[in-house]
Amino acid sequence: MTNALSKLLSERDWILADGATGTNLFNLGLEAGDAPEIWNITHPNNIRTLYSGAVGAGSDLFLTNTFGGNASRLKLHDAANQTHELNRVGAAIGRDIADASGRTVIVAGSVGPTGEIMAPMGSLTHEIAVEMFHEQAEGLKTGGADVLWVETISAPEEFRAASEAFAMADMPWCGTMSFDTAGRTMMGMTSKDMGKMVGKLAHQPLAFGANCGVGASDLLRTVLGIAEAASDATLIAKGNAGIPKFQDGHIHYDGTPELMGEYAVLARDCGATIIGGCCGTTPEHLAVMRAKLEATPKGTKPALDQIIAALGAFSSESDGTDGNGPVRAVRRGRRRS
Ligand SMILES: [Zn+2]
Repeated sequence: MTNALSKLLSERDWILADGATGTNLFNLGLEAGDAPEIWNITHPNNIRTLYSGAVGAGSDLFLTNTFGGNASRLKLHDAANQTHELNRVGAAIGRDIADASGRTVIVAGSVGPTGEIMAPMGSLTHEIAVEMFHEQAEGLKTGGADVLWVETISAPEEFRAASEAFAMADMPWCGTMSFDTAGRTMMGMTSKDMGKMVGKLAHQPLAFGANCGVGASDLLRTVLGIAEAASDATLIAKGNAGIPKFQDGHIHYDGTPELMGEYAVLARDCGATIIGGCCGTTPEHLAVMRAKLEATPKGTKPALDQIIAALGAFSSESDGTDGNGPVRAVRRGRRRS
């Protein structure tokens, strides 16, 4: 137990993670289509503001601005050759902010999907995916990240490739998948499938769970499913602040700080230990989440209708864990025999 996150987990009943990266960077002037990671070098003060916002609101852990920092994604911005440097600097700025906070704050090196489809369905081989994640991991490690944190993953193959790369970098890690398609990941994985899949990995994560997806309600249903399949695991809940809506040409999340406070307390009751937000979650939300977690004792596991009553309806009736298959679109113009 030599790393900072394991130590913090052994001392605390819950840990507040951070909120959105994208939402908060757009509020600082990032334009749609820009690569946020390039700001680590061109706009370091904005990245300091991003990290400080979470730490100032009470986060015990924050993710670095390196979500799209793999060679495959950076290539789209002619920056693949800066992979190591963009990750190193993204983590190093985080290290400075965490060390200056006067308390234990974990710097989690964010690793997002490659954006490519892995074999056998797509063309990205396991070996190349591992190599891309490894390159990113080494940059984050050099910059001083405490742990690596793969997030918003849909394909189990990609999750496995990341875990292998993190073993090569000799780094502890956490990982979350995004369940955004009627309770499943885009590649069809259910919450229970994930719980079972992670249990078989050679390089075990310190914690795992779900991030992003649809709304806060759906995310908690997912956490309940993972908890059922992996009852001894340390679980992560990072849900969006409500549902995205287009407003004046911008994406706006309708979840209030109060709603996210309710969500945080319910996330802990569902079995999550590391609790944060995803898209739409600002420092204002985080401060209320922290206050609610501190003021409320842990309760019993909520029933699904308690989650609906507190946070709103689910996006789909089933999340696939009840044995019902994925909901398929009705085939039109083709008669079944
Ligand atoms: Zn998100």
